[in-house]
Amino acid sequence: MTDTTELEAFRGQIRTFLQNQLPPDVRDTVHRGQMVPRDRMLAWQEILAQAGYLVPHWPEQWGGRGWSVQQQMAFDEEMCTQGAPELSAINFDMIGPILMRYGSPAQQAQFLGAIASGRQSWCQGYSEPQAGSDLASLSTRAEHHGEHFVVNGSKIWTSGAQHADWIFCLVRTDREVRAQQGISFLLIDMASPGITVRPIVGIHGWAVFNEVFFDNVQVPLQNLVGEENQGWTIAKSLLEFERLKLARIGENKRRRARVLEVARSRREAGRPLTERPWFRQRFAELDARLLALEANAARFIRRAQSGKPAGAEVSMLKLRGSHLLQQWEQLTVDALGPQAMPFDAAAWSSQGAEAPTGLAAIAATASSRRFLSRGFTIAGGSSEIQHNILAKQVLGL
Ligand SMILES: Cc1cc2nc3c(=O)[nH]c(=O)nc-3n(C[C@H](O)[C@H](O)[C@H](O)COP(=O)(O)OP(=O)(O)OC[C@H]3O[C@@H](n4cnc5c(N)ncnc54)[C@H](O)[C@@H]3O)c2cc1C
Repeated sequence: MTDTTELEAFRGQIRTFLQNQLPPDVRDTVHRGQMVPRDRMLAWQEILAQAGYLVPHWPEQWGGRGWSVQQQMAFDEEMCTQGAPELSAINFDMIGPILMRYGSPAQQAQFLGAIASGRQSWCQGYSEPQAGSDLASLSTRAEHHGEHFVVNGSKIWTSGAQHADWIFCLVRTDREVRAQQGISFLLIDMASPGITVRPIVGIHGWAVFNEVFFDNVQVPLQNLVGEENQGWTIAKSLLEFERLKLARIGENKRRRARVLEVARSRREAGRPLTERPWFRQRFAELDARLLALEANAARFIRRAQSGKPAGAEVSMLKLRGSHLLQQWEQLTVDALGPQAMPFDAAAWSSQGAEAPTGLAAIAATASSRRFLSRGFTIAGGSSEIQHNILAKQVLGL
């Protein structure tokens, strides 16, 4: 789909669907910047799955619609701007596509339908206490014992592990070879005996990630993805499209709208914030950055549509997109001023107080969201690592 009118009609269909089908309580929770409760998220995923909108970028063979990159990007943006919660990239953009590409027919049959239904949740077990940016130094090991691997070690910063049914893990299966060559990719049932999950509560007050401990966990040999010691190649195989999504244009637009809503409701020195020079200057600067990001993303989308690889240059989208998200959150906090004091959500609900509405609702989570957004420039490869990639592979420095 390259025609602008066609794309606009497509966007219109998505918008109508979201206006009619997105449950109002889910939309309100997202608007307030709170976490959507798990049962409500699962219910929303079911609505999307039934309408064919949960994995529309997957091939039809696996329950998708085979949408183009352009359609998928437009869909993601409409989801954000219409107030839908962000979907798990780990389920739908990582493990799903990895299994399509590297999974055995038995693994594909076992998992892809369940993931596409929205009822099965996965988490990603890559990082360890001593292996983050330098992921290849990971030491969680898997050893052969008859029909099983026996896994020992621990993972950290595992997003969503407390709710996940399965974890895909990088494990060391050979210590004698070069670090990258001795790693394998395993699928592990989170209900396996010997797994302990310990949530980590962040400075923002939310438990978004966890420590996961493996103590003699038995994993059937058939849960190995690809060949033994091929895990590094699989882990690096983020598809071009997934990397394009890291610009998070829709999420940036969602935050832009929230800042504007705050600024229109606040007054400073007797004038609306939208007339105050400091605010106008910062907003205009971020807006220009967003426009530039969008133009750059469009360039990569066109390239992807014509079948050309995005190359290492695509790192700039992750670098800029994640930083801009943080800047919008910071501007929201600054625009709210003293109203953005940290908010005790637990005390608020346990005392049965009325949920705040309007500006107060946004203010209630503004500080937490600002802290949460600090992680965006670390997760999925920190900004320093993106700079290194651009310096070496693009600029040739
Ligand atoms: C919100 C969030 C969610 C996450 N979810 C998951 C998950 O689900 N699963 C998972 O496996 N992991 C997850 N992570 C972990 C994430 O992948 C790691 O935090 C990240 O790879 C950085 O590793 P590290 O924390 O060990 O920091 P380190 O690698 O120790 O880095 C510390 C600092 O040194 C800098 N640095 C490191 N190496 C270099 C270098 N070569 N050149 C220049 N600077 C360098 C880094 O940029 C950083 O500033 C998540 C992280 C966050 C913040």
